[in-house]
Amino acid sequence: MTLDRNLVRERLRFYREMGIGPLYRREPGKAAPSLATETAAAESSDKRATLDILTGPAQPAELDRSARLQLVLDDIGPDCQRCKLAKLGRRQIVFGTGDPHAELMFIGEGPGADEDAQGLPFVGRAGQLLNNMIAAMGLKREQVYIANIVKCRPPANRTPERDECDTCSPFLMRQIQVIRPKVIVALGATAAKNLLGVNDSMGMMRGRFYDFSPPRTLADTGEAFACKLAVTYHPAFLLRDPRQKKETWKDLQMVMRYLGLPMPKPNAAQD
Ligand code: URA
Repeated sequence: MTLDRNLVRERLRFYREMGIGPLYRREPGKAAPSLATETAAAESSDKRATLDILTGPAQPAELDRSARLQLVLDDIGPDCQRCKLAKLGRRQIVFGTGDPHAELMFIGEGPGADEDAQGLPFVGRAGQLLNNMIAAMGLKREQVYIANIVKCRPPANRTPERDECDTCSPFLMRQIQVIRPKVIVALGATAAKNLLGVNDSMGMMRGRFYDFSPPRTLADTGEAFACKLAVTYHPAFLLRDPRQKKETWKDLQMVMRYLGLPMPKPNAAQD
């Protein structure tokens, strides 16, 4: 993957703000690390509709995960009208993106303007920050799976409403059942509250793992499964309050330890 210098600079600044680094030190007389080296181092509607979603066509177990995700998308349909977001200016459905076999899944709130335009989650400024968070974990965006509680953009980026979340989330539960991640990271209070069914503050929800089991649907023919769920700050919030990036990094390190991902050595360059 080639990254331009601004992106690398931005990513390195993000690492500094999270308290990671320095990640390397240029030795006198040695050439500056290549960009690639720097990057590598730093890198719901009525009940019936809901019932239809939950009892969607049984998915043949032999289909691979991509095909099963495609079935979920097909069930949503290209012009979903199940909730009022369909008539409130959304351009397209933002389904989700990433590796259908990902061990790690990030779940945000709902698409913004950039996501609505491109049909992909987290592609705007908050998405850039999420990419940096993923890279700081030593992963590539393509190695995780990214989705949202609602698949259509709420007008003026308002918080999705209860009925909208309730209508849409059965599709998300089906995605989770297909992907079967080891860990879900809920980005922000809206995602966390919807997934956990609680109404606690971020301070109460962060810093620990929850056992999460998506409600089973008739469409799910696989084995019941459970995973861990962690809550951290939403990247859009971090853009407004960068001081919380350090706390976010603690949450991400907790996830990394659980997944057995190598931890960056913050002061390796000074050893
Ligand atoms: N914020 C979200 O919660 N999701 C996106 O996809 C983009 C911004």
